Amino acid sequence: MPESAEEYAARVVAAQDRDGRLPVGGQEVLGWDVFPFEVDGLRAKVGPVLVDVEPPRRGEDPSGCHCREAAMEGPAATGDWAAVWEGVGWRVKVAPPSGSPLVLVAEPLEHLDVDALSDDLAAALGRLQVALVGAVEALPSVGRCHVLRLGDGGAHAHVWFVARPARMPQLRGSFMVVWDDLLPPVPAEVRDANAAFVVERLVRRLGGRAVTALA
Ligand SMILES: [Zn+2]
Repeated sequence: MPESAEEYAARVVAAQDRDGRLPVGGQEVLGWDVFPFEVDGLRAKVGPVLVDVEPPRRGEDPSGCHCREAAMEGPAATGDWAAVWEGVGWRVKVAPPSGSPLVLVAEPLEHLDVDALSDDLAAALGRLQVALVGAVEALPSVGRCHVLRLGDGGAHAHVWFVARPARMPQLRGSFMVVWDDLLPPVPAEVRDANAAFVVERLVRRLGGRAVTALA
């Protein structure tokens, strides 16, 4: 029998100090060269605490989801989260400029969470994921394309593709999502040129269509 949420939380509470903080120090990850912060003076926030239910996510009620809003097409430079590619079952959107050379999100055209995807949509996601990784990693400024499914913010299934800048070993691995906020944002025209490069390769490999005109 798998342990309950209460049992898990009890072990977390037992590890917290009298202020409700977990100790910082001794964890291997703090010594990694990819950890973005100096450890001196670092302390954990109070928590985590167990709540009664999972917090609601955006789009839990489909009528409040972004996919029910007006057209998502438009110039990417002015329309953040513009769709840049659309194919069988899926679209790819571009994130606002950030430290990463390019951040893309793939989501199903239909309002579906991951556990509701049909086998055909799942198969199409697999092909899209492989094609996107290949295309993003072909960008000259990119060393790796990280793929993340988190899903805590929105109920409409979505997968993140985060380009990790080339030849900067400190940016490797899971902390790239933190570095993404620390690094200076790329200019919108650089992001758009990178997105156009990726979309051109996607269309060549998977078909579908470029949705938004990019540089
Ligand atoms: Zn939706």
